Amino acid sequence: MGYVTYDYTCLACNKTFEAMHLRDEKPSCPACQSKKLQRHQPVCAVVNTTTQFLKGRHWLSDQFNDWQLKELVADAKKHGYTPKDNDIYLSQLADFPGDPKAFVSASDPAGHIVEVCKKTNRKCQGFVNL
Ligand SMILES: [Zn+2]
Repeated sequence: MGYVTYDYTCLACNKTFEAMHLRDEKPSCPACQSKKLQRHQPVCAVVNTTTQFLKGRHWLSDQFNDWQLKELVADAKKHGYTPKDNDIYLSQLADFPGDPKAFVSASDPAGHIVEVCKKTNRKCQGFVNL
């Protein structure tokens, strides 16, 4: 009871790690013991339904300007995925720019997000809860 798990980035040594700790306790960096940590925001924290989710987002072509989109699509293709026009790019799901798993299909965004979060051990709150 009272335990929470969050992802952190250490501001001293830049290490990213996951820590489980009591809610009102501050973890320290496993590498350098620093307590200067930045907590990551949980993925997709605000929205609750598919409609709300989609309303708040835009298609790829609206999310990025031309050259950004070109670059993103090129990066995704390099990793074996060709983005569709109605995909939504969620940078929170990406491990690197253009990460194929960050392209969320408009037909089943929740399913996709759940799958990615489970596979990559990400926490997700709001739209889907994990
Ligand atoms: Zn550190």
